[in-house]
Amino acid sequence: MQKGAIRVQTENIFPIIKKFLYSDHEIFIRELVSNAVDATQKLKTLASVGEFKGDIGNIDIEVKLDKEKKTITIADHGIGMTAEEVDKYINQVAFSGAEEFLKKYKGQESGTNIIGHFGLGFYSSFMVSSKVEIFTKSWKDAPAVRWECDGSPEYELEETTKEERGTEIVMHINEESEEFLDESRIRAILTKFCKFLPVPVKFEGVQINNTSPAWTKKPSELTTEDYQNFYKELYPFAEAPLFWIHLNVDYPFNLTGILYFPKITKSYEIQKDKINLYSNQVYVTDEVKDIVPEFLMLLHGVIDSPDIPLNVSRSYLQGDPNVKKINAHITKKVADKLDEMFRNDRKGFEEKWDSIGLFVKYGMMTDDKFMDKANKFLLLENVEGGTFYTQEEYRTAAAALQTNKEGKLVVLYATNPVQQDSYVQAAKNKGYIVVKMETLVDAAFINNIESKWENVQFTRVDADIADHLIDKDENGTTVLSEEQEGALKDIFTAQITQPNIKVELKGLSGESQPVIVTRPEFMRRMKDMASMGGGGMNWYASMPD
Ligand code: ADP
Ligand code: MG
Repeated sequence: MQKGAIRVQTENIFPIIKKFLYSDHEIFIRELVSNAVDATQKLKTLASVGEFKGDIGNIDIEVKLDKEKKTITIADHGIGMTAEEVDKYINQVAFSGAEEFLKKYKGQESGTNIIGHFGLGFYSSFMVSSKVEIFTKSWKDAPAVRWECDGSPEYELEETTKEERGTEIVMHINEESEEFLDESRIRAILTKFCKFLPVPVKFEGVQINNTSPAWTKKPSELTTEDYQNFYKELYPFAEAPLFWIHLNVDYPFNLTGILYFPKITKSYEIQKDKINLYSNQVYVTDEVKDIVPEFLMLLHGVIDSPDIPLNVSRSYLQGDPNVKKINAHITKKVADKLDEMFRNDRKGFEEKWDSIGLFVKYGMMTDDKFMDKANKFLLLENVEGGTFYTQEEYRTAAAALQTNKEGKLVVLYATNPVQQDSYVQAAKNKGYIVVKMETLVDAAFINNIESKWENVQFTRVDADIADHLIDKDENGTTVLSEEQEGALKDIFTAQITQPNIKVELKGLSGESQPVIVTRPEFMRRMKDMASMGGGGMNWYASMPD
């Protein structure tokens, strides 16, 4: 028997890199700028532990384009590399210097903000280059070196003259990739991936990034205005957000970010993919499915987690345990925030309900844990608008009249209060509370929640003629005698001075009203129409039988 280790034949890895490393070639800029950031952060770490003495100096990262020479250069003033380090970190594919550094300086402040992990990022430059050169001078007292490779397995490594500490990567862009030799293209890529990197990045002399975006700060350091300004920075043309949640976890996983609730009006155009995923301030993707619970996909903002790998693929994300935990955490945070808003400022919460309601209902349908919490702050708005009931409050207010034969609470709702107005009025005349259920999500919500809430039945206000809306047990209890009815009617009628008001004694049983005073539908409508400045006479079309 023979045992052994599988060896990788590194005959020529470049065709594989070109084809499979990243489907998106523009990623090479992200990878190389990330390495420049890492090198700079490492230098800061060395300075903070006293290993690097002296002046750090200018640490700006520069991206340069030379159209004539067809090169893109990325220059930093980070730790640089010695010849041995180039051999170790560059000549050995998939040996990650970032990982090694992290192990050594774990716990140091900026040591934990290293982006690289895999030891492949640098090689993404070969996706777009026919030749790559490295000019680098280490912070250590060692000669500067030049490395060159043309995408064949052979490289050259030699001493060179370079005064400044740091690294310059010069990419000679290949013919198929000349699209990248364009200022606006490079600026767009930098803006996409590098907008919030922690070290200044300059392109054509202009800094393209904000090195300390709001989500990286402590909530206590930020004012309402700061949050609003950051929202503007993310979405310059969007309407101001309703409110936001600042995520800030460091155990058992790392997660920061700010999630904004947009204002949702009837004409609101649903905008998905408005949450951007970052890893150590490097943009990764706007596809946050699985990381963000589905019912919150309409939120806007940023989440940043170094625990989500940069090189994400869909199938990988689904199975990742951190992703599941992050998803659950976000749900909990959102539920807690809504609960807090509801308890601390109910009026304000009600005013935002038009927008919030959509999320809450969708969340209750899709996530039982969320539903448990949301049961306390889900609001039912009465049909006239402005009066809101929690589930419990509705039960208390409606139990006496709206309990059916089976002992279930009947929630009466209108899907179109204007069209169903006559039914609504009839129900109201019986003392019932009719709520609005007119948004897109409501039909599904009713179906779903009816099976989850105990002892509740939803009935649409025009589902049946008004008298049978609530299927009551009519047996037993008080039914007035004819004589009693007459006497009672006289008492009420005597009190009424206006014309066209009718007193009806329905002889209803139990605790429901024995007397109903109604104004004829005709009169009421005429009055409404007059106050609305006239209008058609087709009002009767919607009258109940
Ligand atoms: P990773 O960033 O995942 O470690 P890369 O392939 O991007 O892998 O880079 C490999 C290694 O090369 C880095 O870990 C680092 O040690 C070294 N390196 C790359 N770019 C630079 C740079 N600009 N300055 C200093 N070292 C660098
Ligand atoms: Mg890297």
